[in-house]
Amino acid sequence: MQNQILGLHHVTAIADNAQRNYNFYTQVLGQRMVKKTVNFDDPGTYHFYYGNEKGEPGTILTFFPWEGVGRGIAGTGMATEISYAINPDSLDFWTDRFKNLKVTSGERIERFGETYLPFSDHDGLQLSLVSIKETDSRKGWETTDINGKDATKGFYNVTLTLQIMDETAELLTDIFGYKQISQEGSRFRFKTESIPTASIIDILELPNGKRGRNSAGTNHHIAFRVPDEETQMAFREKLLERGLNVTHQIDRDYFFSVYFREPGGVLFEIATDNPGFTVDEPLGQLGTHLKLPKQYEPMRGKIEASLPALK
Ligand code: ZN
Repeated sequence: MQNQILGLHHVTAIADNAQRNYNFYTQVLGQRMVKKTVNFDDPGTYHFYYGNEKGEPGTILTFFPWEGVGRGIAGTGMATEISYAINPDSLDFWTDRFKNLKVTSGERIERFGETYLPFSDHDGLQLSLVSIKETDSRKGWETTDINGKDATKGFYNVTLTLQIMDETAELLTDIFGYKQISQEGSRFRFKTESIPTASIIDILELPNGKRGRNSAGTNHHIAFRVPDEETQMAFREKLLERGLNVTHQIDRDYFFSVYFREPGGVLFEIATDNPGFTVDEPLGQLGTHLKLPKQYEPMRGKIEASLPALK
């Protein structure tokens, strides 16, 4: 088990307005703000991490809100849909909630015997809730109007849209330990048995699909989960042997990361469980203070003044 990819670690997307993004994910979707920090490569921009109660890998959706950046175009070479697991009897709750809160949402879709409720955020980022059959014991975050039973549990799957899937599929199966378990039309489902949750990747193969363009409302990268740095380095070696261009290990304070562009064009990351989000604030206070990496701490005043205030 120790040498396997443990499903998804986090997914990162781009937003426009920070306040709107914060309101949507914490209030409408009921996520916990697990960490409020800045983009380590661009400290004038926030980096928001939303997740479940404990901020567990496999539940974390992160955003860089870039005010005025404009909308991107979802397309090939990108993760194009993020799906959260919910209890089967919570579908009506969410359908009503989206209607009442005027969230852009579509008709329910059946895929691989599961019901998906598609919706999007203010920037047009495509998400869905999926009513799952198997038990998912992850504890969602309760809010004043979303109880524990209805709360999202964390990721179920992400969909990658690719022009040609062969090499990406090979990477998932030969190196990451996923198996192709089913196919419906041009949608192919891959699953790892290494972990019971956030263990599925769908590939939608669209040979004539238009290439995506990264900006607000699109995904920036998806991160796969490994338990520790040793496992991460072992995967890095395997990817290098395969001829892929992988970055050195980067310290992201809450995990260690390596990045590479997979053959289908999607930016992949491999991120460690250690040290986790409680490294700089206790579980009870996650996300309540602006946290800065130590290199930016001396500039806190200036950084705080340049970031948009959040209500
Ligand atoms: Zn990342």
